[in-house]
Amino acid sequence: MDLSHNWRDITRPMSQKLATWPGDVPFEFQLGWAIAHGATVNVGAIRTSVHSGTHCDAPFHFASDGPTVETLDVSVWLGAATVIDVRDGDWDAALQPAQLRRAPRVLIRTDAWRDSGQFPTQIPALPPELVPCLATAGVVLYGIDLPSVDPLDSKTLAVHHALRAANIQILEGLDLHDIPEGAYELIALPLKLVGADGSPVRAVLRAMDAVATTPPPEGA
Ligand SMILES: [Zn+2]
Repeated sequence: MDLSHNWRDITRPMSQKLATWPGDVPFEFQLGWAIAHGATVNVGAIRTSVHSGTHCDAPFHFASDGPTVETLDVSVWLGAATVIDVRDGDWDAALQPAQLRRAPRVLIRTDAWRDSGQFPTQIPALPPELVPCLATAGVVLYGIDLPSVDPLDSKTLAVHHALRAANIQILEGLDLHDIPEGAYELIALPLKLVGADGSPVRAVLRAMDAVATTPPPEGA
C-alpha cells in the first residue's frame, strides 16, 4: 500500500553541509554513544542555530517583547496553502488579492537560494508596503525559500516587523525549487522549544487535488 499520498518534502537537509548565517552556529550531529564503539545503542546529539535551514521565526527573534516559539498557535503551521511563483521579481503582479485569498498560508517561490551548501550573497524581498494586502486577504503565514524575509543586509527588518504587526507568522529556508504554483496542504510544525526565538521545522506539502482523492483510512 502506498502511504505517501503524494506528500512533497520541502525541507532542506540538516547536515554539516548546510550553509548558515555568517557567524551563526552551524548544524552539527554527533553520536555520543555508538554501538560501533561497544555501546548498547547509538545516541546522537545536535547543536545548531534555530535559524539553520528550513525554520520558523518567533516574534521574539526580532522583538524582545515578542512571543517565543512554543507559545505560537499550532494551527498556523498546518492547513491550506498557496504556492506563488515570484521568480520574475514582479511582487505586485504575483500578490494580487484574488491569488492571496485562495488560502491563509502563502509560500513564495523565488529560486534565489538553490544551493543549500552555499549561503546566498543577495536575495529578493517582499516590498513591506505589500504586507497590508496579505493581512486584508486573511493570510496568517508567510513562507519563503530564502534565509530571511528581509534583504540579507537589512538592519531594520522592515518585513519581519510589518508581518508581526499584521499577525502573520514567518517560515524561512523552504525548498520550493520543483513545486509549481497552486493550492496545497502544508505541514511545517515547529518544535516545542521553550523560550526560543525560532525552530527548525519539517515542512511538507501535498497538492489539494491529492487531498481530495486520498481514500479515508481503513475503518474510518
Ligand atoms: Zn530566521
